[in-house]
Amino acid sequence: MKPLTENEAIRRLENLKTRYRQNITENYEHRAKNCLTCETQGACCLDAHFVNVHITKLEAIAIKKVLAEMNVAKQIEINQRIAETIEKYNLTDSGDTFARTFACPLFEKGIGCLVHSVKPVPCIQHACYEFQEDLPPDELQTETERKIERLNQQTYGNSKWLPLPVYLKKI
Ligand code: SF4
Ligand code: SF4
Repeated sequence: MKPLTENEAIRRLENLKTRYRQNITENYEHRAKNCLTCETQGACCLDAHFVNVHITKLEAIAIKKVLAEMNVAKQIEINQRIAETIEKYNLTDSGDTFARTFACPLFEKGIGCLVHSVKPVPCIQHACYEFQEDLPPDELQTETERKIERLNQQTYGNSKWLPLPVYLKKI
């Protein structure tokens, strides 16, 4: 497998997510409920019985780059939220990490997702659809995650997925 530099991998990750987002937006999302007028905005990100978003190291690096552009006070606040989330929901980097769920520390009331431009694949895929048949197929998400895993493998030599807060704390 051809190795990649981190910068090149991030560039490819951005392109991949842009294409994936376009596909979801153009072909599926118009049938979903409008998040801008949602009366329970953020319920999807803060549902501690539902959210178990996992990311690769490459995505953690890309998310950290976005967070690093915020002012220092906000960065400290987010880092605190990440640490509190790990503790509160007992998130770890070993065992069946997918079995534990959490309220995402990257959701900000009044703003929404703080890392919208680089949000994880399940977050791009997710929306509230009235009819099951309108949902984007799971294979789309699986296929995109497989490509991301390959980029991660080419860059860091591993294909590890960890809960979002755990990987962000590690970086
Ligand atoms: S995904 Fe659903 S719950 Fe979340 S903001 Fe959009 S409409 Fe609301
Ligand atoms: S990363 Fe963003 S979209 Fe995904 S669960 Fe967290 S706040 Fe919601």
